[in-house]
Amino acid sequence: MSSIRALPDEVVSKIAAGEVVERPAFAVKELIENSIDANATLITIDIEESGLKKIAVIDNGDGMDKDDLSLSFLPHTTSKISGMDELAHVSSFGFRGEALHSIAAISRMVVQSRTVDMPGGNELFIEGGSPQFVKKIGMPTGTSIFVYDLFFNTPVRKKFLKSSATEIRFILEIVMQMALAYPGIGFKLIHNKKIVIDLPREQSLEERMDVILGHTLTRDLLPIYLSQDDVQLHGFISKPLAMTAGNKPFLFVNKRSVQYQLISSVIKQAYGTLLEPRAQPFYLFFLTLPHQYVDVNVHPRKEQVHLANESAVIEFIQKTVSSTLQANNLTYQFKNEEMDALRDGGTHTYAAHVLREEVEPWGKEASKVTGDVLQIHNLYLVVQTKKGAMMVDQHAAHERILYEQFLEEFEKQKSKKEVFVLKKAEMIDVSLSDAETVREYLSELQELGFDIEEFGTNVFKINAVPTLFQDRKVAELLLEAVHDLQTGIGLKNVDIRSHKMLSYLACRTAIKAGDKLTKEQMKDLINKLSETKTQYTCPHGRPVKIDISMRELERMFKRSGF
Ligand code: ADP
Ligand code: MG
Repeated sequence: MSSIRALPDEVVSKIAAGEVVERPAFAVKELIENSIDANATLITIDIEESGLKKIAVIDNGDGMDKDDLSLSFLPHTTSKISGMDELAHVSSFGFRGEALHSIAAISRMVVQSRTVDMPGGNELFIEGGSPQFVKKIGMPTGTSIFVYDLFFNTPVRKKFLKSSATEIRFILEIVMQMALAYPGIGFKLIHNKKIVIDLPREQSLEERMDVILGHTLTRDLLPIYLSQDDVQLHGFISKPLAMTAGNKPFLFVNKRSVQYQLISSVIKQAYGTLLEPRAQPFYLFFLTLPHQYVDVNVHPRKEQVHLANESAVIEFIQKTVSSTLQANNLTYQFKNEEMDALRDGGTHTYAAHVLREEVEPWGKEASKVTGDVLQIHNLYLVVQTKKGAMMVDQHAAHERILYEQFLEEFEKQKSKKEVFVLKKAEMIDVSLSDAETVREYLSELQELGFDIEEFGTNVFKINAVPTLFQDRKVAELLLEAVHDLQTGIGLKNVDIRSHKMLSYLACRTAIKAGDKLTKEQMKDLINKLSETKTQYTCPHGRPVKIDISMRELERMFKRSGF
């Protein structure tokens, strides 16, 4: 590796600056990137207290000599590029010489390093950015960086951090990304002295994926490959019915993990109607193209890139995804029974059956409306109100009423906490970050009626589920719950699928537009509607009733002067 130099001012001024280490995971990412840039084949990440007490990244890479060591943490010093020309085709992760400087400024840092030509290593201690001393130490070739007490001198930044479980999940996600992009490199992640990830060197991508993403997802993936001119795409996409809940997709551009909104929407479009509207496909893509097409200097944390040939690349991706889905003849899924069950929101499920039994579409109480209700064309009801008149869409109103009754009953059934013991316990193999969430919320899940225990690395054994969900797919149910927990929706809400089921159930049970109603039914409908929490729209968002005040009627009849 060439030695470290300060970047010329013209380059410094062109660099997407503002490197801010807002959370421990960002420091972890920069340190791992440095190790990969230094050709490491084994990287150990040792974290304490989700990175606030200690972040150590230990590698067996090229190392630094004594001079480089003392330059490494200065601002804009790098060994990776030297001028403007190289900024246009960066092939390493680093190029700005800012990371070590920014991390050293807000921590107590120890850097140990040794190159292959040196008889031993050097250790440098830096506190709040100022070097304290260098001493000789015995160590193997490579670099070890220890970051202690991150944010010790920036307490405000510390205050904005999320819970330690969330911070460690961010770190996990970074390590997962790196480990997927570099299956040849061995990765070990230790948190509070416990080994969380231990991936040997020289694995295949498939082996890595099984461990990192979990078999529940990887068994439902299709390989994808296309190469055209100097652009290449390879990786995997999920089958339309795969259980992708909670799994964020991965996109690597020249092995750099990036977010690219346009690319994710193009991929979703390529699935078209094969997916339920709210479902997200999963993909793991490696896009490889010449470095000069990729501008990496656009985002302070290098999480985004600009592609010089964007529209060609987008078209290329769309074509590859569509042809892969077509080649696997996945259109048959339309006729698949399972898909139908999903489409109608699961109205044939056990939960729907219970609700139908418990909720009576027409209650027995006597009605309170005293005046007459008029039915117009068997579609709308008109009734006199204190301030004027009200028109009601009979189907939408009944739908709203039933929805709330079903929801109430649903919550009641859920709170009974009855459990359904599965005939055969189900093993679910989840991704590393989902496993962390399941562990974090284990007691909440148990409280809800999941009898669940950890059974080996990232494998959970489920013996029982809440009775209401006895015929739902167990893995899907768990992943949906995990996803809700991760996004902070919490378990108290109705999950997406149950909400759909409730609204479809309400829709199907409700009187239809065109049904002739008896006088009693009309009155009952108006009364019940006045008791619902949301009187104005049906569960699909259409209006239920329209109020017309006397004032409006007067205006229409031009009586306003009287
Ligand atoms: P950049 O990666 O953009 O060059 P950094 O601040 O991350 O900037 O690192 C500064 C320099 O320190 C690097 O260019 C590299 O020469 C050296 N360095 C940092 N980490 C390591 C490491 N793990 N192994 C070898 N050299 C390293
Ligand atoms: Mg770097």
